[in-house]
Amino acid sequence: MDHVPGRPDHLRQSLGGATARLHPNGGQQQPLEEILTPESQAITLDYFWRLAFLLQAGLPLERVRYELEYRCKDGSTIWCDVYVLPVCTADGIPVELLGMSRDITAVKRAESEAKRSERRLRKMLEHLPVGIAVASLQPDQRILHRNTKFDQTFGWTPEEIPTHDAWFLRAYPDADYRRVVLDQWGAGIARAVAQQGQVTPHEFRVTSRDGTVKDIVISGTVLDDRLICSFVDISERKRFEAELVQARDATETANRALQKANAELQRLAVTDRLTGVGNRAYFEEAVAAEIARAARYGAPLSLLLLDIDHFKAINDTHGHLVGDQVSIELTGRLGQHLREVDVLARWGGEEFVIPMPHCGAIQALHAAEKLRALVADRTFPEVGAVTMSIGVAEYQPHERDNAWIKRVDDALYAAKSGGRNRVCLSTREIR
Ligand code: GH3
Ligand code: MG
Ligand code: MG
Repeated sequence: MDHVPGRPDHLRQSLGGATARLHPNGGQQQPLEEILTPESQAITLDYFWRLAFLLQAGLPLERVRYELEYRCKDGSTIWCDVYVLPVCTADGIPVELLGMSRDITAVKRAESEAKRSERRLRKMLEHLPVGIAVASLQPDQRILHRNTKFDQTFGWTPEEIPTHDAWFLRAYPDADYRRVVLDQWGAGIARAVAQQGQVTPHEFRVTSRDGTVKDIVISGTVLDDRLICSFVDISERKRFEAELVQARDATETANRALQKANAELQRLAVTDRLTGVGNRAYFEEAVAAEIARAARYGAPLSLLLLDIDHFKAINDTHGHLVGDQVSIELTGRLGQHLREVDVLARWGGEEFVIPMPHCGAIQALHAAEKLRALVADRTFPEVGAVTMSIGVAEYQPHERDNAWIKRVDDALYAAKSGGRNRVCLSTREIR
């Protein structure tokens, strides 16, 4: 508490004393430069000059309040909330300035720490490779901060999207789509606000300032009264994915075509070109498999060798093309009356073979007779009657395939010599 004479010099000393009383150094009179930091000196001096002006003008003095930073002996500083109260006589003449101070160092440090971490956070967000926007969850819903990546991605100026609502109008110009986004995103925010948690990532098609529409994954985090949103542009990835799907589809189509072509090639490799039945290679493979199966399970297996009678005469009379048609018609008729397991193949020329699994000699003989009749009983176009002779032989255990074929060939020869248009069983079975 000091009396205040009417001159600034005295004021300076007096206030120095007043402030000094609030200072941890105690009540010693010290120059302002020693006890206050430069900013706080400037505030104090301003106040002196104003005080001097008011005193000289005879105006009432004001109560003032400042936050001042004081120097300590050990070189550190402390912050004080200083309240200066002019004390006047009953007739209003100022006699004293009363100063009161409160140490607010802790509060100031906490504030500046908060500011520093906010600055740090912004700096960090600034350099993230994803777009970031921080919006207030207060009723004004202002967009408080956006990082460079956000601006680069969307191009909207702060004036164009000052609020959440403005963002929705700009980013989703189509009203129907905007409604969908608002529904999904709004529900996500409501959940996140309730739990102070995350808004689950949503993928939306966002319109940027230049009109391009981008595929963006938007996530959000609620922090106190703020919503921190991240925006990841996945347009490129989507494009690549679409191209990949296209390429995969094309590859699959090509593969299917290749498989089909391969299957066709395989089929052609075992098919007789004229009649469409199996060829010699097909027969040999099939018969080897059937012999192995018959040997393993002891099931009967028979073979038919068919030869068109006087085929040379047909060719000679009607020409080779008609002869070909006879072969085609004949194999067609046979094919229709065979079991699924019976393989009809062209042995060569006008000779055909049919291995018959699960068929003993007698059964095979009946089947052969049926096939013979099928050919003989119905005339052929242009040619009229066509007959064939058939040899039949049942496979004998441990018999070599050549021997078996020789036996069936002998049986066929017997049928031919017996007058043709007939079926003969290998003599081995007859014995
Ligand atoms: P056989 O009753 O003794 O069997 O008399 P064939 O005339 O049928 O027997 P041959 O072995 O003397 O004659 C077979 C004929 O079959 C000779 C050949 O020109 C004909 N031939 C063989 N392969 C084909 C073919 O793919 N198309 C046509 N049109 N004829 C063929
Ligand atoms: Mg022949
Ligand atoms: Mg013949």
